[in-house]
Amino acid sequence: MRGRLFIIAGCSGVGKGTILKLFLEKNPDVKLSISATTRQPRTGETDGVSYFFVTEEEFEQEIKNNDFLEWARFSGNYYGTRKSFVEKTLAKGIDLILEIEVQGAKQVKDKMNEAVSIFIMPPSIEVLEQRLRGRHTEDEETIKRRLNEAAREIEAGKSFDHKIINDNIDEALKQLQEIYDTGK
Ligand code: 5GP
Repeated sequence: MRGRLFIIAGCSGVGKGTILKLFLEKNPDVKLSISATTRQPRTGETDGVSYFFVTEEEFEQEIKNNDFLEWARFSGNYYGTRKSFVEKTLAKGIDLILEIEVQGAKQVKDKMNEAVSIFIMPPSIEVLEQRLRGRHTEDEETIKRRLNEAAREIEAGKSFDHKIINDNIDEALKQLQEIYDTGK
């Protein structure tokens, strides 16, 4: 049987990384897609694990080759999901999660309507700002840009199949598990 495809989006700092990490620990058969990006690796990020880090030229060549299922420009960088990776994984019967931003999520949903889209919401913009600052991984300009993007993303998130408010991590995880278990 073909694997199922899940799209998870949510603004920077909403805690989707933490929720996903815990979810994948509990569901080791589910795979997380590794995207290609032109952004610089953060401390602790490894090429081929967190992302495939590529140059602008390489990314633009892959766009021309039609290699991406979806791609988007976000915060000044390119991000994209390779078609071949998604197809191979689903064909093997493995369930796959794409952790991507909202423009890419829309492209995937338009092409593969069977994909289940889940948007993780912050309890409020104020809480999001606190979390983003507490992470200490971005400079002030990047934080401001990401907060502006957050407002736009929350608006786009309204059209997702499921919305989870990350007020409490255990509760958010439970909701994600329920969505995943439905239709299994
Ligand atoms: P970050 O730079 O914080 O790792 O990611 C920034 C944003 O890009 C996040 O919202 C993340 O979900 C999104 N993202 C990561 N990979 C992809 C991808 O392959 N495609 C799209 N459209 N967005 C991605």
